[in-house]
Order: sequence, then C-alpha cells, then structure tokens
Amino acid sequence: MRVSRYLGIWVVAGVLIADGRAGSPSEKINRIVDFDEDGVTITSNFEGGRLNAVTSGGEGVFTATIAPEVRPMSNDQSWYAFKISSQSKRRVSVALTYTDGKSHLFAPRISHDRRTWELLPETSISKASDGRGVVLRLDVGPEPLWVSAQELFTESDFNEWIDGLAKKPFIATAQIGESTQGRPIRKMEITEAPPDAPLVVVLGRQHPPEVTGTLGLQAFVETIAGDSALAQSFRKQYRVLVMPLANPDGVNAGHWRFNVNGVDINRDWGSFEQKEDVVLRDEILRARSVAKEQMPFFIDYHSTRKDVFYPRPDVKSKKPDSELEEPDRFMRKWLARVKTLTPGRTVPIEVSPATRDKKLNATTWMRDLGAASVTHEFAHDTDREVIRKAGEADAVALMELLPRESASRLGD
Ligand SMILES: [Zn+2]
Repeated sequence: MRVSRYLGIWVVAGVLIADGRAGSPSEKINRIVDFDEDGVTITSNFEGGRLNAVTSGGEGVFTATIAPEVRPMSNDQSWYAFKISSQSKRRVSVALTYTDGKSHLFAPRISHDRRTWELLPETSISKASDGRGVVLRLDVGPEPLWVSAQELFTESDFNEWIDGLAKKPFIATAQIGESTQGRPIRKMEITEAPPDAPLVVVLGRQHPPEVTGTLGLQAFVETIAGDSALAQSFRKQYRVLVMPLANPDGVNAGHWRFNVNGVDINRDWGSFEQKEDVVLRDEILRARSVAKEQMPFFIDYHSTRKDVFYPRPDVKSKKPDSELEEPDRFMRKWLARVKTLTPGRTVPIEVSPATRDKKLNATTWMRDLGAASVTHEFAHDTDREVIRKAGEADAVALMELLPRESASRLGD
C-alpha cells in the first residue's frame, strides 16, 4: 500500500515512473525515471541507472529522489546514476534527496561519453538544507551528461572486457548459468596447464555499487593474463577461474546492495537460497573436482568505506605460523608479500563484518573448502591508479608464492 501511494504522489508530481513494482515482504523499490520538462531531459533508464523520482521547481531547478531497493534498508551505499541533457546550453541545479533517512555518500562523477569520467568539481556541489543530500550545479546541453555515483561498469562493460580478453588463446569464456532475472552469469578460465592443474578462483561484484572492487579485479586478472615470464610460467601450472559479475541484475538495476530478491548474495553462502549463489557454487565445485580438489587460493573483490583485507580470523590472530593450518599460513605470507609490493600503502587486515555476524560469505565458504581465502575491499574513492597497482600486486604476490609453496610441499 505504501509503495503505491508513493507512486501516486510521484505521478501527480509530473513524473513518469516505469517498471514500478512493489514486493512483499521487502517492499522492493526498483524504478526507472524518464523525466522531460522545462526543456530538460533526465533519465535513469539505462544499465546501472538509478533515480526514483524527479520534479521541476522551474527555472532550471530540479529535485531528484533516491531510494534504496528495499525497506527497511540496512546498507548506506546510496547509489545513483542518471543522464541529463537540455535543448539549449544552460546551467541547471539538481538536488539529490535521499529517502529512508539515508545520506549522500558517493562523490559525483561525470562523463560526456560514458567511458572517461571525472569527479564533479567540489565548487559545483553544495550541501542540501536537510543535511543529508547535496545540490549539484551542472552545465548541460543537447549532448547527454552522465552523472553517477561511480564510473558506470555494468553488464555490457563486463561483456566487452571479457570478450576482449578472450581473444587470447589461453582464455576461454562460457556462461555458467543465469541470474534470478535470467541474465547470463559468465566465467573466464585462464590457463595453459593440464585440466587437473590446481585451481585459483576469483570472484567479483556480488554487491552492485562496488565498482572499485571491479577495478581491482580487472588489474588482478589482466596481470595473470599478461606477457610477463612470471605470468606465462604461472599459467602453465594453474587454472584461474574468474567470475567477475556475480550479481548482474543488481548491477544493472542500480542497486545499493542486493539482488532483485532483496537478498545480500554474499550472506547466502551457506543456505544457497539465491540462484546466483547456486550458479557460482556449482561452477566452483565442478572446477574443483576437475582439479582433483586442489584449490589453493580464492580472492573476492569488493568496495567499502576504506581499503581493507578480510582474511579468515586465524590469519590475523597472534598464533605463530606453526600453529596455523596451511591455507591460513599461506594467506599470511601472501598478505606480507602484497605489502612489500605496494610500498607506502598501508592496508589494515581485519575480521570481516560477515564473520562478526556469523554469516557465511564466499570467503568463509571457500576457506572451509581448503582455499587460502581473502576479501579485498577498496574504498569507493581510492585513487584509480592506486587500485590498479594494488590489483597487480595481488596477482604478482600470488604468482611468485604459489609455485614456490607447492614445490616446497612436494619436497616435504
Ligand atoms: Zn561488498
């Protein structure tokens, strides 16, 4: 009832809202705005787009409403993305107003071509009178201006990236299943090794707004797929299974956290009630079986308010190495090597929120299967070049240490 009343208010306010569906019990909010008034067009009708309403105050002053995908919403990653154009060149102001007591989080990024992005200058942003939103001053014209919480990197971008990499003879791609809404979930396999070689697993984008995690994952994967002698040697000994887009429905819908069922798919790695997790799990188990249960390493890329590593708790405990199980001992070595490869970058190693909540996330589940496992989180605003170097270091540390580790084990 409440959602349809909101819908009515917004329609009366002169807003066309498409795809308005109310879910129960979570009251899913999954709407698209197509606004055209006062010579100005504002739309969120594209992959990753998100605004829930727009109203005009006249004279180039607009108010955009942004709501989370479920109520109540526990998460604060208040994603927005829209495209704005005007019949004539002019300066407009767009207030971003957040519902449900939520606040503005992401510094706006703008693009004229959806590929190259820059931060909107701070001089073009002021705090809204409610203390939670912001007012953006935007120079617009007939060519569309993209305004987004982060660089847009959605399903079509993943496809382009995957298909580009797959031109290399040692990278194969396949669809491993479908999301809740029937979108393909794809994998890459990078290897020049025999089919039963040990398996490394890389996962990304369980959470829709976490674009910096994707940037780290891309650097990791491209380093393993690179031309260095280290990478060539590594690929002859290991298979690398990459599933870079775990939650395509949520990413394309501009969600803050969840899949289209309003579920955090990184808290479902025990109950496996969501289609996405079942697809990912089945692929991992299939590949692990082919690898004769050898699965030495797993990394899951995310974003949050700071750069941080979440390994399993034993890794950061005071236990001496000799008392650790082998995957945790290896994780300690890997984290130490990553640190030396990224001088000047101090990244804390912490116990993950999922672990504190006693919920099974991918990293816990993979550690239980015997893999040295870690979640690598990047802050939303970490410098993009720093992210690239960090993702490269993750890969280099792995390629340096894993073969050495295996060799010493064979010698035992
Ligand atoms: Zn996340």
